Amino acid sequence: MTCLSRPFLKRLLMTTVLMASFSTVAGETLITNAVIVDGTGGSSVIGSVRIAGDRIVAVGALTPREADTVIDAGGLVLAPGFIDTHSHADERILSQRDAGPKITQGITTVVVGQDGSSPYPLATFFEALEETPATVNVAAYAGHNTLRSIVLKEDFKRTANPGQMQVLSGLLREELDAGALGLSTGLEYEPGIYSSSAEVLTLAKQTAAQGGRYISHLRSEDRWLQESIEEIIEIGRVTGMPVKISHIKLAMKGLWGTAPNILQILEAARAEGVDITADIYPYIFWQANMMVLLPERDPLDHEAIDFVMQELAPPAGIIFTHFPSQPEYVGKTLVEIAKLRGETPAEAFSKLAQLSIGYEVETGQSGDVIIGTSMNEQDLQALMVWPHTNICTDGGLQDRHPRGAGSFPRVLGRYVRDLQLMRLEEGIHKMTGLPARHLGFINRGLIKPGYQADLVLLDPKTVADRATTAEPFLSSSGITAVWVNGEAVLHKGAFVSAYPGQVIRRAAAP
Ligand SMILES: [Zn+2]
Repeated sequence: MTCLSRPFLKRLLMTTVLMASFSTVAGETLITNAVIVDGTGGSSVIGSVRIAGDRIVAVGALTPREADTVIDAGGLVLAPGFIDTHSHADERILSQRDAGPKITQGITTVVVGQDGSSPYPLATFFEALEETPATVNVAAYAGHNTLRSIVLKEDFKRTANPGQMQVLSGLLREELDAGALGLSTGLEYEPGIYSSSAEVLTLAKQTAAQGGRYISHLRSEDRWLQESIEEIIEIGRVTGMPVKISHIKLAMKGLWGTAPNILQILEAARAEGVDITADIYPYIFWQANMMVLLPERDPLDHEAIDFVMQELAPPAGIIFTHFPSQPEYVGKTLVEIAKLRGETPAEAFSKLAQLSIGYEVETGQSGDVIIGTSMNEQDLQALMVWPHTNICTDGGLQDRHPRGAGSFPRVLGRYVRDLQLMRLEEGIHKMTGLPARHLGFINRGLIKPGYQADLVLLDPKTVADRATTAEPFLSSSGITAVWVNGEAVLHKGAFVSAYPGQVIRRAAAP
């Protein structure tokens, strides 16, 4: 039991006041004096935006009416709410409904069910979200690995047989009927790593026939990147549906500097008619588990581990963010841990990987999570500015990787303002109109009459990420207000107790 402390009461009162001044139920809301960046990539204009209920009803030089709630934007930038095309918020969204690390970045829609893992069944997940909504809108893919685990169970180290394919296909149909955007795969992870390209293609064809799309954590982001890109291009080519590479990266030293070649391959596929796109998060380090670095899944393979140390993830850049067997290692690099253990980094990697596997076998829970520094800045920038790349977080709601709380403001602060890699309008387009088009959203991602009133007010001079690997939960600065479906969820950077998020189901094929 807790008592209502004074600060809590004060917050409660403030919340009530804020909610009253932001209420859009009775009258309409007029946001005036805003620099409107509408999400199309076109130049900003100064003007007002009128909201009625959950929709934008007018944009331009507008005059307040008597019953209006007028909000003076004070010359800040008003943009469509950001769309996170690769989110892991599904792990906690039902219990952490405020989605704090997302709305403080200006994100109003999270797309979950990523890397082949989705809540199952989606119909139940969607119902729960409609019963107790979150602050943000939620859309989901159906995860190949999730369905595969249900059908192949413990016997997953092979491709599905014809009987199993039929069951898989039945489950996929149900998920797509429930409103999944399409099929997601995580082919570098269990159990999808054991599926053949033919298995994936069969399910992809079915997805396309039901009007869905495809998104994939590729089979390899390092050793076999090129083959993996060929695999997804082939899926796009054969099915004709849009395909997207998740969190595109060149995660191997030997690949550094080759972003232009990769983009050339993607451009050639597009020229041929393949609708291929990518999303990206703005960091040169990733987060996953140790085994993802060892495709043969053998922690005693010293040759493979040496290759990891040399080429994939130098030990000084491997940071343990979860290690339940020896929690004292959390926050330390592999170099530091190796020193503590009196081992070489490669030896320590092998031993820790064995401990992690042991823990997983014993408890059925994840034995480790690590951050690995495998990419370089030049490639990151080249991939980010590709006109068909949009921004994502790849983060959850309690992510030990700073991407979970910092990705979108980091792009706007570091890459748009400080490094001038893109115009502000372009940067925002990559967070709004572009992903909306990639996802088939018909009424989100732009500031336009008739569109849902998902909006973010930000200060382009101060917007910045603050989260770091040491303090991954620090919320960003410069995001002033956020509206979801016409309701304020963030005001003056503070959370307003409102949960207007909707479930976004796949739009019926035209
Ligand atoms: Zn992934």
